[in-house]
Amino acid sequence: MTEVNQKTAYDDNNIFAKMLDGDIPYHKVYEDDKTLAFMDIMPQAKGHVLVIPKQKTADLANLEPEYAAAVLMTSKKVMQAQRKVFEREGIIQMQLNGAQSGQTVFHYHIHLIPSSIHELGRHAVAQADQSELANIAKQLAAAINDA
Ligand code: AMP
Repeated sequence: MTEVNQKTAYDDNNIFAKMLDGDIPYHKVYEDDKTLAFMDIMPQAKGHVLVIPKQKTADLANLEPEYAAAVLMTSKKVMQAQRKVFEREGIIQMQLNGAQSGQTVFHYHIHLIPSSIHELGRHAVAQADQSELANIAKQLAAAINDA
């Protein structure tokens, strides 16, 4: 029988693990004891944010309940801030599991993208301007703080 519940091994050197270890820079939107939210460097729409758990897990298969709850609650905060900052209701929540789905970074993460599914840009292709990312991160962080 085909194994349908394959588990992707966790690589401690993946780019998000390095962010959690403080080894590479990123544009922070929000952080608490269990999660981190930051700007996607190759956004599929303006304001694309990623939310990761501080648990080291490649995808949804091994995500622990307390971290599952925490990433969703942080996603909710970020989504509400995106609605406020971009003055739009439509925010896509997306999450890929396994290379076959198109996943490229193997540390679990939720994408929050201010876009319609019909207008979504290409996945992880074009790098955004760093100063624009920094500016959006600041606005989103302020909106979360004010909530
Ligand atoms: P996925 O393909 O679902 O694993 O998504 C990985 C996401 O990480 C893509 O949308 C990339 O644009 C994004 N990404 C890759 N490297 C970085 C980085 N250094 N900082 C922020 N986002 C990144």
